[in-house]
Amino acid sequence: MTLGEARKIAISTLHSARRPSPSAGLDTDVLLSFFTGHPRAVIHAHPEYKLGDLSEPFFSAINSRSEGLPIAYITGRKEFYSLEFMVTPDVLIPKPDTEILVERAIDLARTPGSSGPIHILDVCTGSGCIAIAIQHHVPQCIVHATDISEAAIRIARINAEAHAPSVRLHVQDLRNGLCPPSLAKEVPLWDLIVSNPPYVPTPVARTLLEDGRNEPILALDGGTDGLDLIKQLADQAYASLRLGGSLLIEAGEYNAQAAADYLKQAGYSDIVIHRDMESQDRVIEGSKA
Ligand code: GLN
Repeated sequence: MTLGEARKIAISTLHSARRPSPSAGLDTDVLLSFFTGHPRAVIHAHPEYKLGDLSEPFFSAINSRSEGLPIAYITGRKEFYSLEFMVTPDVLIPKPDTEILVERAIDLARTPGSSGPIHILDVCTGSGCIAIAIQHHVPQCIVHATDISEAAIRIARINAEAHAPSVRLHVQDLRNGLCPPSLAKEVPLWDLIVSNPPYVPTPVARTLLEDGRNEPILALDGGTDGLDLIKQLADQAYASLRLGGSLLIEAGEYNAQAAADYLKQAGYSDIVIHRDMESQDRVIEGSKA
């Protein structure tokens, strides 16, 4: 079978799926490129090239995609902040929405501190994308990251190896403390705490997952109004930030204002809601004055 023939069949498979992909052509090209190693331009310029033995894995990937599995879980990789991250269904797929948080964190991390290196903690790190992108761009700061899931921390370790080996990763359930006791001893106060915690209201998280995206519910479900973990994080972070330190939390466009109100109530000052690239309220910043 030629690339051109495979492309046609794949696109029509994706169009006629129970949940048709909104980007059937692009999905097909990305997967063809992934399996053949040819850039997309070559696939378009040479539809007569043979797919050969790759036809089986390619169509099996198209079937997975037609059941709703995101491309990133099929290829096992996703670009975030111009770095390539390994992803599996043990971790959320890094989203462009989160890049604004990284950008702001990098700005804060580059602001010269009063003494010594800046200490940054990323809570609920998942694939490690936030911590790793910050450390990659600001090598002189000291970055630690935690997640409740051991499987996620394993993925984050692989990603850290690739882009920022000095990031230190820890398994920790936020509900039992911001970081493991030994780390709290080592770094009693943080300059900056960042997080993309689970913040989707439970019923919405369940509905989202019905499309077969297979993302971990643990990383999405933030309780009835989505604010359970944001509140715990805000309270604990306040106690663990140095004076003048900052907290950056991602939230939903639907609960960002409520999250900001909570931060205010928890004692933070200079609260700002940053918008993402789609102009949606996305990241709450607060500082400990
Ligand atoms: N909308 C976000 C996503 O799909 C939700 C992430 C979260 O709950 N932290 O990645």
